Amino acid sequence: APLPGPIRPQPGILDIALYQGGASKIEGHAAPLKLSSNENPFGPSPAAVTAMAEAAAGAHRYPSTDHAGLRAAIAEIYGLDADNIICGVGSDEVIHFLCQAYAGPGDEVLYTEHGFGMYPIAARAAGATPVVVAEAERRVDVDALIAGITPATRLIFIANPANPCATMIDSGEITRLADALPDQCLLILDGAYVEFAEGYDGGKSLVEARDNVVMTRTFSKVYGLGGLRVGYGYGPRHVIDTLNRIRGPFNLSAMALAGAEAAVRDVDWVAECLRVNAEERARLAGGLRQLGIACDDSQANFVLARFKDEAAADAADAHLKSDGIIVRAPKSYGLPDCLRITVGRPEDNSRVLASLTAMVAA
Ligand code: PMP
Repeated sequence: APLPGPIRPQPGILDIALYQGGASKIEGHAAPLKLSSNENPFGPSPAAVTAMAEAAAGAHRYPSTDHAGLRAAIAEIYGLDADNIICGVGSDEVIHFLCQAYAGPGDEVLYTEHGFGMYPIAARAAGATPVVVAEAERRVDVDALIAGITPATRLIFIANPANPCATMIDSGEITRLADALPDQCLLILDGAYVEFAEGYDGGKSLVEARDNVVMTRTFSKVYGLGGLRVGYGYGPRHVIDTLNRIRGPFNLSAMALAGAEAAVRDVDWVAECLRVNAEERARLAGGLRQLGIACDDSQANFVLARFKDEAAADAADAHLKSDGIIVRAPKSYGLPDCLRITVGRPEDNSRVLASLTAMVAA
């Protein structure tokens, strides 16, 4: 639409492409199976639901401004220093804080080819320039990132495991990238899917060893609280102090704080969800491959199914939809021949495989 007169957004804002979220409805299907947003199919811990309901009764009071209870719980469960944690409205908000605080006009924010869609949004919202670097076979390419660094680079975002590719790079590669950072540059390790990757600390040890590495985490995935909007960043004290200056004092609601704290303490719930996810992820990926659909090994709670071309991916998407199943077509991520399928409950994954089996047989 043409701009009406002198009221104009800041430069770069209108270059932002609206975020394309996963669909949640199919016409003609009253209760579709939604496997499009990498949500926990088992929902939140029952303890979190109880805690949120209790907090709701006290909703006339403003919530904590310093999130001390939630930070202490996260610190206790993951062995972190509570003073080095900042909580946000999803890790999305932490990503925004980082861009606002560290990148502005003339600065560059690096991310990779199939990187998460919030990085360029947050970079442009801060007036900075997002710069995309090539990947190698749907995997973060550290050499390409290092080659992409310029004197204007202020932030580098990588998600490990990556969304939507579900691939990972090993800790040695991440350290190599951290070693190559110029003085003015922060490395952000987006750990939205860390819990699903066995034996990976999300970059905790690197964060603690450096003054220029930050890890972000979320309650939206394994904790089953995507609707609650809670995430956090773990970083060096100078970064956390900086981010707290631009954080709204009441960014997290009392319900969000209570629900997330109960969720992080319910370690048995998380362990059981992870156990089922690992088993079902292998079954789903194996089933796809048996049908001739390529699929990288996943370290997350979703798989990326690769078809022979865009038309084949579209046909599979349409076929799944006709069976009442919603998956994600990651076209906006430059993967038009792929479908991203969240690992569901065992019966959900069986439905996906049955639907695709029928399609291939037809
Ligand atoms: N990073 C990655 C890689 C993601 O996939 C997501 C969720 N889609 C997020 C961050 C943001 O998650 P949230 O804001 O719900 O914490």
